[in-house]
Amino acid sequence: MQTNETIIGIDLGTTNSLAATVFDHGAEALRESGGGAIIPSVLTRQDGRWTVGEEARQLRTRAPERTVYSVKRLMAQDIESLREEILRLPYTVKQAQRGLVKVHIGAESFTPQELSAEILRAVKRRAEAALRQPIAKAVITVPAFFDDAQRQATRDAGRIAGLEVVRIINEPTAAAIAYGLDQKRKGIVAVYDLGGGTFDISILQLSGAVFKVLATHGDTHLGGDDFDALIAEELKRHVLAAHPEARLDGALASSLLRKTAELIKIDLSRSLETEYTLELPDQKLTFAGRFTADRVNELISPLVQQTLNSCHEALKAAGKRPEDIDDVVMVGGSSRVPLVRKRVQALFGRGPNIAINPDEVVAIGAGIQGHLLAGGRRDYVLLDVIPLSLGIETLGGTFSKLITANSTIPAEASEEFTTYVDNQTGIDINIYQGEREFVKDCRNLGRFRLKGVPPMPAGLPRVKVTFHVDTNGIVNVGAVEQRSGQEASIEVIPSHGLTNDEMERIMDEAVEHAIEDLNQRQLVEFRNMAEAVFRGIDKVWDDTEALLTPLEREEIRKQMDVVRQHAGQSDPVALKREMDRLGDLTRPVADVIISKAALTELRRFYEETR
Ligand code: ADP
Ligand code: MG
Repeated sequence: MQTNETIIGIDLGTTNSLAATVFDHGAEALRESGGGAIIPSVLTRQDGRWTVGEEARQLRTRAPERTVYSVKRLMAQDIESLREEILRLPYTVKQAQRGLVKVHIGAESFTPQELSAEILRAVKRRAEAALRQPIAKAVITVPAFFDDAQRQATRDAGRIAGLEVVRIINEPTAAAIAYGLDQKRKGIVAVYDLGGGTFDISILQLSGAVFKVLATHGDTHLGGDDFDALIAEELKRHVLAAHPEARLDGALASSLLRKTAELIKIDLSRSLETEYTLELPDQKLTFAGRFTADRVNELISPLVQQTLNSCHEALKAAGKRPEDIDDVVMVGGSSRVPLVRKRVQALFGRGPNIAINPDEVVAIGAGIQGHLLAGGRRDYVLLDVIPLSLGIETLGGTFSKLITANSTIPAEASEEFTTYVDNQTGIDINIYQGEREFVKDCRNLGRFRLKGVPPMPAGLPRVKVTFHVDTNGIVNVGAVEQRSGQEASIEVIPSHGLTNDEMERIMDEAVEHAIEDLNQRQLVEFRNMAEAVFRGIDKVWDDTEALLTPLEREEIRKQMDVVRQHAGQSDPVALKREMDRLGDLTRPVADVIISKAALTELRRFYEETR
């Protein structure tokens, strides 16, 4: 018997749908092998069968009366409330029993639940192919403003698709869970969701691990499609200026204009300027042009402003000011538009959470919820920052931090270390997480050994240690000895199972022990330095006879004793002072020490290559 049945998360969207689940390394959207995760929420009826997804989306212009999209808008709605909506839709929607509606295609008719079920079936199929196992249970998301009837209709759609809907959760809540905000214990979260055809802003209050919806606002007819329409209008003006004879109002031309507009928009989300070509094969016309991000921003600015007005409304309804918001989460493909992010950031006065793919974040949160409901643990977390510093153990048990707490991920840092013992051929890299100065007070994450380092005097090996934290929070630690090229690496997952209390305790302790830790650390470091200096002096001692007077050599000997004495005590400042004094006395022979060390290496090199 399987102990942990997989409960996938499904984002059943107006424009796009997809599923996600939790793997050992974290939550991820389920994708076609080598392909995308997103399935357009579009279906076409052909020869008594449904075609769902990308293929249906392509058919939308060729078979408009047989192609259904935006089904989500019809869920549990009566004909009255859909009057205006129906005027926009190219397919036929008619009244059915109990005030509800059905979509008519030829002689057949379908309830919105059945249509949604077809989309869910496609999502389920893709999930089963990705996971290579049958899936029977799911968590499905709905907008926060969905009423009981709409939620029930969504459950029914799941059942028709052969899925047990274990739970229905709010889309903004799912997004917040994806970012691990439910583990914060308390706070106010604003979730800004700009999709293809809808905009929602939700203000959530977190207490315990439960999100309460304080307020929602939005616009059911504002989204990326409207951006496309404005860009398409501009494209039309471009084309007509050069080809006044072009006919651009037909179905094919309109759809090509829209498609090109969307490509332009998406391209301008990552560049400031783009080139496009528009082909109208039926009119034997090819048109090439340029579009700038500035122009797109001008066009869409009023629409973006509308979303901000909604944000203000929602804040007002929740009785909150922008500065009361602890976290802002960006959701929906259109939240990738740089102007949108910029304006949202300005409104809330803080950088929004954007690390997780905005068109996958809702499904990912639902996948995490499903995983928890299936009895899964949350020992990984999708955080956009590194909660505790990461580093390695250095001589004397000190903790050298390479990546400090609160760095955003992905992150990378490297530092060079060396050996303190002659002829060390294996170097241990011991990885820790924490805020204290000594590894004994931190958490060990793993260790590995860099082997095969050629024997060299202490201080000569150059070991470059690199930490790389990927977007899933997985840490790869690599070490390479630069002179020999020997390398080794390991992958570790930071311990994210920390509760808030634990996190707070770790932080508090770090502050509490800061001064005492620092003293202790300096003492260890200075002792290590003193050892290294002594070794260097010993090595060249015989050579110094030619360079120094007996009195100078006598003074060095005496000062070495003073340093040794202070190394045995616990005052790092005094120890450092005496070491500096020793440094002054040995300065004339410093060059000898260095070239001697280099000679040793050269000798080794010749011996090896002989
Ligand atoms: P929904 O929640 O309505 O199902 P999505 O969140 O999937 O929709 O958003 C779809 C919208 O996101 C489309 O209008 C699409 O053009 C837009 N979009 C996707 N990627 C980008 C991008 N890189 N830049 C701008 N818009 C994008
Ligand atoms: Mg959505």
